[in-house]
Amino acid sequence: MIPHGLSLPSPCYNLPMKVVHRDKVAAENPGGDSRGVTLRWLITQGDGASRFFMRLFEIEPGGYTPLHSHPWEHEVFVVSGLGEVRGEGRSFPLGPGDAVYVEEGETHQFRNAGGSPFVFLCVVPSHAAG
Ligand code: MN
Repeated sequence: MIPHGLSLPSPCYNLPMKVVHRDKVAAENPGGDSRGVTLRWLITQGDGASRFFMRLFEIEPGGYTPLHSHPWEHEVFVVSGLGEVRGEGRSFPLGPGDAVYVEEGETHQFRNAGGSPFVFLCVVPSHAAG
């Protein structure tokens, strides 16, 4: 909100701030050994991002992402639903408000553990492929 009477120089409006709604982003299937998972790349290089990309995952009841590992980290925030993240020999229950850090090289899998969609954001470095 610009206070009344204050004008900003026009270059301010050329900065690349961007708003995108999830419903405008195509849903993809992550493939691999996954079930009931949709993935939306909310913010990527196409939006001007150079270091981090933001993804939205939705896992149906009974669904799961592949059990996998890769040389980049994940930072996850649970939006809604109940789930769990499994690692090597351990797992943690997840619910709305929980944040998860998965270290690079760490085996991980996200699973829906409830009866409604399990929805979470996952931020990855821009060099990540999945
Ligand atoms: Mn991963």
